[in-house]
Amino acid sequence: MALSSLLQRFSEPETLKMAKLGRELRAQGIDVIDLSLGEPDFDTPQHIKDAAIKAINDNWSHYSPVPGFLDAREAVCAKLKRDNNLDYKPEQIVISTGAKQSLANVILALVDEGEEVIIPTPYWVTYSELVKIARGKVVEIRSTVENKLKITPDELEKAITPNTKAFLFSSPCNPSGAVYSKEELAGLVEVFKKHPNIYIISDEIYEYINYVGKHESIAQFDAIKDRVILVNGLAKGFAMTGWRIGYTASTVEIAKGMEKLQGQMTSGTNTIAQKATVAALTQDLAPSVEMTKEFTRRKQRVMELIKDIPGISCTEPDGAFYIFPDMSYYYGKSDGETTIANSADLCMYLLNKAHVSSVMGAAFGEPNGVRFSFANSLEKIEQGWERIKKALAALK
Ligand code: PMP
Repeated sequence: MALSSLLQRFSEPETLKMAKLGRELRAQGIDVIDLSLGEPDFDTPQHIKDAAIKAINDNWSHYSPVPGFLDAREAVCAKLKRDNNLDYKPEQIVISTGAKQSLANVILALVDEGEEVIIPTPYWVTYSELVKIARGKVVEIRSTVENKLKITPDELEKAITPNTKAFLFSSPCNPSGAVYSKEELAGLVEVFKKHPNIYIISDEIYEYINYVGKHESIAQFDAIKDRVILVNGLAKGFAMTGWRIGYTASTVEIAKGMEKLQGQMTSGTNTIAQKATVAALTQDLAPSVEMTKEFTRRKQRVMELIKDIPGISCTEPDGAFYIFPDMSYYYGKSDGETTIANSADLCMYLLNKAHVSSVMGAAFGEPNGVRFSFANSLEKIEQGWERIKKALAALK
């Protein structure tokens, strides 16, 4: 087969792979509990669905401008002002087919062959692969449990070289749930001030799923704002993963670059979803607040459930809907049949023995971790952790 070398450079998302394996077992009649996937188990709020239905009936069925309808981009600007006190104009906004496309746009618009992108671990699986697609080089900063899986200004400074093009991170973080405070961001900004050629890609898609209070964006610091590409989307905060809406806020120059790419790749994103975006970003946030309250209850329950399982050490998440414990205590152990060498083995063991799906930490740049989602009902979470506990107890 004459498939391109590009395809050899990156892997498929481990998150989607695990979900697929879980579905396959389910198709065989096995009751698999899904703690692998990253999406709210809630319905999209009614007022957003109504706006989409109206858009269909109003015949919003033609191509939109490549970066999105003006009213949708204005809604993004209004949201950024309302929630983040950030001033952006519609020409600085590009609306895309999910935050994943937004990230692909940013990376392909900025990164040239051999240029370095600094990514703190653990990071969302797609970051490193997009950098590889762009022929850039991933430079990891290993975060530590002592610093609640965040990096320090010193660690950032040490990772910078003359070849550094960008820094890429999420807060709240998928998979660790780490959330940077304003003071912590200010510390990183002091380093960026000394390195005026580095861009900062800030993925804020879990903004609303925050257990410690107000979301802080690194774009609030004027000294570096022109170098920040803020990435956000509707998937997580509004339970709209399938609607595929993401957006960026950046300088006009970067926005134009991304528009050029998107113009050849996909054109403007789905028009119905764009009209729904206006309703989501400018109307009632109460359903999102309620959803986060439910995630808070589940997080507390999960933290209780893991307390009496030996060998799981876990930083309590401040945001998002995952825990990312260090599971290396189980590496080298066996149930007599299967020996666990690493996070991939452990996830497969939990899938085959406990019928619970999770995602291996190696995919997030942290081989000792495993990601378990709590975007599932309390009942399933409790059943899932009961099964995990039993399966882990069999490893000696
Ligand atoms: N960033 C992070 C950190 C994510 O977890 C996800 C989705 N899992 C995305 C971006 C992509 O979101 P979307 O569904 O809007 O493409």
